[in-house]
Amino acid sequence: MTNQALNLFDLSGRRALITGSSRGIGLALARGLARARAAVVINARDEASARTAQSLLREERLDATAALFDVTRADDVSAAIEALESETGPIDILVNNAGIQRRASLESFAAQDWNELMRVNLDGVFHVSQAVVRHMLRRGHGKIINICSVQSELARPTIAPYAASKGAVRMLTKGMCADWARHGIQVNAIAPGYFATDLNRALVDDPDFSAWLCKRTPAGRWGNVDELCGAAVFLASDASSFVNGQTLFVDGGLTSVV
Ligand code: NAP
Repeated sequence: MTNQALNLFDLSGRRALITGSSRGIGLALARGLARARAAVVINARDEASARTAQSLLREERLDATAALFDVTRADDVSAAIEALESETGPIDILVNNAGIQRRASLESFAAQDWNELMRVNLDGVFHVSQAVVRHMLRRGHGKIINICSVQSELARPTIAPYAASKGAVRMLTKGMCADWARHGIQVNAIAPGYFATDLNRALVDDPDFSAWLCKRTPAGRWGNVDELCGAAVFLASDASSFVNGQTLFVDGGLTSVV
């Protein structure tokens, strides 16, 4: 590949905020974007784990800072984004990654769990995007990547509320594209298949599920979180300048095959 082609993916001079990036997929995406030369902002609620993640990236000589806030608290989100924009620098790339899982049959799913799940997985995307996009609109460019799931498309027993939240994020991605594309902002989503992280520890620890998953997934295995980085760099970079409102499934083929 020529340098000109590779330059399309170069994120030098861009700053990316990745919500929920102290571990798991968010941390892998932060590392991937930083390796593509973006300056990255780690986010989580827990300070110690966010600082540890920041140190891990800095050990690799990557440009990483941290911003602690809870994506569900609109006022805190707004204050944190204003502080980042004025003190650290413009946010050119936003990855809405923070998310949680709660499992129970729908008929006995606690209303409190439903509310918590929706607040993090859906309201959080709205709050952070709204706070960040105001600055992107003023500048006339920006990239937003929403982390969806194969559950944006397919349901499974005991996780109906999670599937509903991720289906909504997929639709919100299209809605953001509808409102913001004309202002130079590209909004797309990545829908991961199954990746071994804390969020799905219950599945990772279940050998029957793991055997079923490997049979069900055309690639025959779990995903490795680093395998999400190519999609993220593509959607964060000039290489995707006319890609908007799309959901890119990174799932080893799971949603393509019955
Ligand atoms: P994880 O390992 O549990 O990490 C979640 C991250 O989000 C942590 O950094 C956590 O830090 C942060 N977080 C949680 N609630 C937050 C809040 N209210 N405000 C700010 N940060 C918050 O999860 P993961 O598996 O990496 O999942 C990341 C995303 O990928 C989620 O949206 C998930 O739905 C999606 N996804 C995962 C898979 C998978 O196979 N793992 C598949 C499809 C989609 P604190 O607790 O310190 O805040």
